[in-house]
Amino acid sequence: MNPLNPLHSGRHFLQIPGPTNVPDRVLRAIDAPTIDHRGPEFAALGKSVIAGMKRVFKTTGDVVIYPASGTGAWEAALVNTLSPGDRVLMGETGHFATLWRKLAERLGLAVEFIPGDWRHGADPDTIAERLAADSAHAIKAVCVVHNETSTGVTSKVADVRAAIDRVGHPALFMVDTISSLASIDYRHDEWGVDVTVGGSQKGLMLPPGLSFNAIGTKALAASKKAKLPRSYWDWQEMLAVNTAGFFPYTPATNLLYGLSVALDMLFEESLDRVFARHDRLAEATRRAVRGWGLEILCADPALYSSTLTAIVVPEGHNADALRRLILERFDMSLGQGLGKVAGKVFRIGHLGHFNDLMLCGTLAGVEMGLALASVPHRKGGTQAAIDYLAETAARQRDATASDQPREQPVQSSPAIPGARSAAAQVRY
Ligand code: PLP
Repeated sequence: MNPLNPLHSGRHFLQIPGPTNVPDRVLRAIDAPTIDHRGPEFAALGKSVIAGMKRVFKTTGDVVIYPASGTGAWEAALVNTLSPGDRVLMGETGHFATLWRKLAERLGLAVEFIPGDWRHGADPDTIAERLAADSAHAIKAVCVVHNETSTGVTSKVADVRAAIDRVGHPALFMVDTISSLASIDYRHDEWGVDVTVGGSQKGLMLPPGLSFNAIGTKALAASKKAKLPRSYWDWQEMLAVNTAGFFPYTPATNLLYGLSVALDMLFEESLDRVFARHDRLAEATRRAVRGWGLEILCADPALYSSTLTAIVVPEGHNADALRRLILERFDMSLGQGLGKVAGKVFRIGHLGHFNDLMLCGTLAGVEMGLALASVPHRKGGTQAAIDYLAETAARQRDATASDQPREQPVQSSPAIPGARSAAAQVRY
């Protein structure tokens, strides 16, 4: 029992940058009887969610879905395309880039890690320099985290692609979109990415447990020669049965029901509007932070993340103590500082199934927490966010009359047999 908030009445605020709030519609879809994963109904579901994920990644190539957390899809990207001892170029953008590096090294890859200050994204010019110096083409892959969840800093994926092309280097290009997919604009094909890694528990509004590889043709060709050992993650086995809508092993059937409905929701809103919603809520959050007189960890405004904001607490104060107090008193979970910035920053997740009033509640909780924890700040940050939300809502109202959703569901799949309610039927 929490003495500060003994009743725990009302809803918990889950404002970490993933796992995010799961919409009731998705929860209801998951809460349905599990079907035979080798039967015809499953085949329709499998084909449908794979088609939907291709739209989300913006690719006409292959997408595989693993019953695994994002770390599994990181590993899958590497073991399918590379061989023991291959050199890989990665950038130290934050905690998750560091974890991907560790994973690569454990697999026996030789990682060249470009140092970073955790306040900037991957630098295309430095990547170009390193690749230009590699005239023997020993570097086999460049790996970049699109949206560093530990720092709230994005990297310019298209610029990294252009840098690789500028020096004519044949390395594969792999991008982690675990905290940007379905929240921040991302284009696998157009940006020439060879493997994109995604996860279910952030912009896709699902519980943790699914992860993805979007696979370009060059990566698929590389997978035929790659020598790193793999079994569970093997693309070839997966793709061989995916065409018929099946998996080589037992899939996460009920999470796929949820994915189907989450895709419906994304396409009903339209991806462009989903991205615009995230951009707007992120800008409101930053206005609140500036209003409080606190510092945003991301040092380059061109690289601000639209899914989370990492906020630096003033010297002499501990971000974890502030978070603990906010959790105990206001029943809100905020993201902790990870790795090098542990205790120094806290993170507000503003992604997924999220709207204006949820953001206002979140910011009010932070502002009250700052006061309660005696963290030096100015009052009124939440008001600055409210003002921005109200102004932009008025502008949106005036602009929306002629603005119809541009994306429609591409196909509809049959209802899942035995599903308990209309809301639990898969419609995508
Ligand atoms: N990459 C990024 C950018 C992440 O944010 C995370 C998790 O938050 C991961 C990778 C690892 O994914 P998981 O924890 O689902 O294994």
